[in-house]
Amino acid sequence: MPQRIEKLCVEKGVRMTHQRRVIARALSSARDHPDVAELHRRVTKLDPHISIATLYRTLKLFEDTNVIERYDFGDGKARYEEAPEEHHDHLIDLETGKVIEFRNDEIERLQAEVAARLGYELTGHRLELYCVKLDGPAGNGSDGA
Ligand SMILES: [Zn+2]
Repeated sequence: MPQRIEKLCVEKGVRMTHQRRVIARALSSARDHPDVAELHRRVTKLDPHISIATLYRTLKLFEDTNVIERYDFGDGKARYEEAPEEHHDHLIDLETGKVIEFRNDEIERLQAEVAARLGYELTGHRLELYCVKLDGPAGNGSDGA
């Protein structure tokens, strides 16, 4: 949904300036997990006056408001995506940098089980799989998105 971040911000009482709105739109229309440099390229296509400093401040604000998620996929760059409506995890192809979203009910169940066994209730988790592609036809390209 293209305006989802904007809508969430309004619901959470974040004052939406023009620049925040532009940044929210760039994030909402992303289908990938862009880093700051890539986001800045996209944002300045919409409004060339938005500085990298404004972008950083706005990303921090959106992150603190829980309307976006920040990830570190192991290359030292922060990456961002709209807070997903449904939880998913990420598989990172170390050779190409490609990020595949997936969800596995067995993993979800096991994590809750591990927490419970240690006397805790699981309230959230992050899982990143760092991978290289198998040789041969085994990689079937399904991304479960
Ligand atoms: Zn994702």
